[in-house]
Amino acid sequence: MLRQVAEGVLIHQSEFCQSDAVVVQGQVGVLLIDPGVHGSEMACLANDLGELGQPVVAGFSTHPHWDHVLWHARFGAAPRYGTARCASAFRVLLSGAGAKARIAEWIPPDIAEQISWDLFGLITGLPAEMAQIPWDGPKVRIIEHQAHAPGHAALLIEERGVLVAGDMLSDALIPMLDLNDTADPIEDYLAALRLLEGAAGDVDVLVPGHGSIGGADQVRARIEQDHAYVHALRDAGTPDDPRVGPSATFDWMSGVHERQLQQLARRSERDGTPG
Ligand SMILES: [Zn+2]
Repeated sequence: MLRQVAEGVLIHQSEFCQSDAVVVQGQVGVLLIDPGVHGSEMACLANDLGELGQPVVAGFSTHPHWDHVLWHARFGAAPRYGTARCASAFRVLLSGAGAKARIAEWIPPDIAEQISWDLFGLITGLPAEMAQIPWDGPKVRIIEHQAHAPGHAALLIEERGVLVAGDMLSDALIPMLDLNDTADPIEDYLAALRLLEGAAGDVDVLVPGHGSIGGADQVRARIEQDHAYVHALRDAGTPDDPRVGPSATFDWMSGVHERQLQQLARRSERDGTPG
């Protein structure tokens, strides 16, 4: 079921981790951002778009994680974009024998069995100097940063006052750092939050990759909440954060927090830097 969150911007929330797919109406069709997770939900979205007479003319994946690079045959053969780093990170992931089987191990079986593997992760990288998604619709600015995954991008639809945050600024998920092959994941994350803060001044609607849609007041509040969490993580402290507390939306979030603490502690031992 599609829900309008701003003029010409609709979202479809998945049963899986409250994943938010975003539909942006253009001149002759829609841009589909992070299309969805369950095959049946994407089919339902394809039906809704069919009823609206709106073909998919472009796709975009905010980052190279499996739940953001899915596609359904009924969306058609529109180009599916991501940042150049996103596309190349996923290409590496998909290369080699048995890559899809390895990826499938991270995916809940009921979702994995519905995946169109031939359409999985087919992302066309946009050159780094390209500041907007090339399509016939409202301007969509690409705000690339180094935080949750390689080539992660938030999207700013200025004319609609909408910020699509990818896996940042969620009310349900804590900041999940990219701890693979990154030199300073804490500082990267803080820099990304500063970048979003600078871009989000006139935003009325915040759409996270997972969780609930936020209004204008939520933009700053969630940036501050994420900032506080990352500082607590850096200092190996206990975050005062509802997303990992007893009222957390996802009970597995405290496990994610513990793992991040452990991985960072291991890194600082290895690097000899003070924790
Ligand atoms: Zn992710």
